[in-house]
Amino acid sequence: MGPLQELTLVTYSAQETGELGEALGALTLPGDLLLLSGDLGAGKTCLVQGIARGLGVKTVVRSPTFVFATEHMGRLPLYHVDLYRVDDPREADGLGLDDYIEGDGVCAVEWAERAVDLFPADHLLIALAHVGPDDRSLRLIPSGRRYVELLNGLKERIAAGRPASPDA
Ligand code: ADP
Ligand code: MG
Repeated sequence: MGPLQELTLVTYSAQETGELGEALGALTLPGDLLLLSGDLGAGKTCLVQGIARGLGVKTVVRSPTFVFATEHMGRLPLYHVDLYRVDDPREADGLGLDDYIEGDGVCAVEWAERAVDLFPADHLLIALAHVGPDDRSLRLIPSGRRYVELLNGLKERIAAGRPASPDA
């Protein structure tokens, strides 16, 4: 489960980030936990919108910044959590995060770095960062067997030609 398992990709448009999310969403299983970190505009919501498409969600996915979490129904439920307004990890403690983490859906958390200690050790961390105006790097770091497997599935899809190419 070491750093050798991780993968860094660069996308060159919001559409490419969405496609990556879609590929990931298609591979998810009940109970999966996806932790997204990165600054405002890094593409977290864009990625979650793709994940939703990959799960067959038909409703509109927006940043749930002012409501903490929204639930969408697809092949599996998608719990879209946003911790933007959490300043202190202890605040997040009382929000009912565990219900989402322990639920049978796929839980995708924006600003997960604001409450890192609250999450189970096993998860897929996706650290997004600005590289240029339309360029974003996405560093995918799996923790635990399930997430190594999930990332391997994604690597296979990428090797098959879609979506984004691995960064050289
Ligand atoms: P966050 O949720 O991290 O604050 P959003 O997904 O809401 O970020 O916004 C990302 C913004 O950056 C959108 O306006 C999107 O169109 C733009 N963008 C430009 N290039 C990319 C890219 N490669 N990936 C994702 N978003 C991009
Ligand atoms: Mg967002």
